[in-house]
Amino acid sequence: MTTPAITCPWWCTDHRRGDTVEDEQHARLFPAPAGTWVAILLGGLPRDRPELAWGAEAYRPDGEDARAFAAALLQAADLFDRLAAEPGRAP
Ligand SMILES: [Zn+2]
Repeated sequence: MTTPAITCPWWCTDHRRGDTVEDEQHARLFPAPAGTWVAILLGGLPRDRPELAWGAEAYRPDGEDARAFAAALLQAADLFDRLAAEPGRAP
């Protein structure tokens, strides 16, 4: 079964293909340290809204990765705010 063509928004760099439009997901992953992830996700349906998503479980002997995780979160939140301010996505 083929999926109807979905046009990716400009920020989608990690698109996840699915068998149906419900399974399609636009995604942007941010460079996060091992044990953590930071992403912006948007489903393929018209009613779907972008979501800022993150997760972390890490045990480190220093603060370096924690800072890198914080930086990735900040970067994602900044882009997320820009997307929310873009015209064309009616509430
Ligand atoms: Zn996409």
